[in-house]
Amino acid sequence: MKLEVVTIGTELLLGQIIDTNAAELGRALAGAGVEVVRHVSVADRPEAIRAAVAEALDRTGFVLTTGGLGPTRDDITKREVAGLLGKPLELDAAVLRALEERFQRLGRAMPAVNRTQAEVPAGATVLPNPRGTAPGLWVEDRGRVVVMLPGVPSEMRGLLAEEVLPRLAQRNPGTVVRSRTVRTTGIAESALAERVGAIEEEIAPLTLAYLPSVEGVELRVTAWGLRADDAERRLAAATTQLRERAAEHCYGEDGTDLAAVVLNQLRARKARLVVAESCTGGLVSGRITAVPGASDVFIGGVVAYDNVVKSGMLDVPPELLERHGAVSEAVVAAMAEGVQRQFAVDAAIAVTGIAGPTGGTPEKPVGTVWMAARYGSEAPRALKRIFPGDRGEIRARAAQAAIDLLRRLLAGGGHQ
Ligand code: ATP
Ligand code: MG
Repeated sequence: MKLEVVTIGTELLLGQIIDTNAAELGRALAGAGVEVVRHVSVADRPEAIRAAVAEALDRTGFVLTTGGLGPTRDDITKREVAGLLGKPLELDAAVLRALEERFQRLGRAMPAVNRTQAEVPAGATVLPNPRGTAPGLWVEDRGRVVVMLPGVPSEMRGLLAEEVLPRLAQRNPGTVVRSRTVRTTGIAESALAERVGAIEEEIAPLTLAYLPSVEGVELRVTAWGLRADDAERRLAAATTQLRERAAEHCYGEDGTDLAAVVLNQLRARKARLVVAESCTGGLVSGRITAVPGASDVFIGGVVAYDNVVKSGMLDVPPELLERHGAVSEAVVAAMAEGVQRQFAVDAAIAVTGIAGPTGGTPEKPVGTVWMAARYGSEAPRALKRIFPGDRGEIRARAAQAAIDLLRRLLAGGGHQ
C-alpha cells in the first residue's frame, strides 16, 4: 500500500520550521506497512495546494496532507481539496457543536471565523481532534482518498495514531514495512559498496540503502508490504549476508553504539580503559560515559590539549613533541603508553589531530588525526586518517575512529 504526503505551510518553505510532520509520518506509516512514495511541501497558496494534491492523486491515488486546517484566512487546504474533488463544503452539525462546547469549556465566546472549521466536504468522514479545534478529514472519491490532518505536530500525531492508522490497517490487512540496519565504520561508502557488490538482486524484493554519517556507513535493508513473518525471515537472511560482506568493518546492527561494543569487549576480559585526548577534547570520554554501566570498565581520561599536559601528565618526551610534532605517530603512541602507565590499566585510547579550520600545513592538512589503541603490554596500534568536514565533523569522526581502533585491536586483526 502506497501514499503520498503533502505538507502545507509557507513557513516550511521559508525554512522557519523543520518539517517534522513529514518525518513522523514516514516513520509511523512505514511501521504500519504503508509506503510513503513521495513527499512534497507547498506554500499556503490555493493553486499550489490544489496542484500538489491533484498530481499526487493522479500518481498514487492516496494523499495525506498536514496543515492549513485552521480558522484563519491562510488555512485553505479543505476548500482546495473540496474544490478539486467537486464536493461542496457543508456545515457539519456535530463538528459545530463540538467546537462550541470547546469554547464554552474554555469560557470564551467562539469567534465567527471558527464556524468555517465546522464545514466539511460533502461525504467526508470527520476525524475528531480532542487536542485542537480543527478535526481531521477523510475524503474518498471514486476509489481515491485524501486525508487531511492539522499542522500542529501534537494534533497531527494524535489523529494519526487514533484515527488514521487504524483505518489504514483495515484497508491493508497483514502486511508490514520493516527495516534492519547493519552498522559499519572505518570504510568509505564507495569501498563498502564494492565489497557488498550487487547484492540487490539477491535480496529483492527487499531494498538496500547506504546511509553515511560521521559515525560510518549504515546499510539499511527494508521489506515493503510483506507479511510480517516473511519480512522477518528475509531481513534476517539479508543482514547476515551484509554482515559477512562488511566483515571487520561491521560492529553491530540497528541502534548499536560503537562505544557500548568496545565496553563489552573489555568487560569480557575484565579489563579497564583509560583515554588521552587532544583534538577531541573529551568527546571519546563522552561517548564512552554515555553508555549506561560504563563505570565498571572506564576509569576516566586526560584532556591533553596543550603539549604541557602531554608531557606533564602523560610523560610524552618533549623531544618527541619537538621532533615529530604533536600530531604524529610517535606522539600518539607515547600518549597511549603514558596514560596507560599512569593509571595502570589494561587498555588505552589516544587521539591527537588538527580539527581546523586553521593550523593545517601541506604535510599535515586540517583533518589529519593520529589515533592509538593499546591493550596489555603489546606495542600500541596507531592509525592516521585525514578526515573530511568542518571542525565538528572532524572531531566526531576522530572520536568514532579512535574507539573503533580499540575495537579492531581487541577483535584481533582488521588492520585498516
Ligand atoms: P491551526 O489550527 O493551528 O491553524 P493548521 O492545520 O492550520 O492548524 P498550520 O497553521 O499549518 O496548521 O500549522 C500550525 C502550526 O503547526 C504551525 O505553527 C507550525 O509551526 C506547525 N506545523 C505546521 N506544519 C508542520 C510540519 N509539517 N512540521 C512541523 N510543524 C508544523
Ligand atoms: Mg493555521
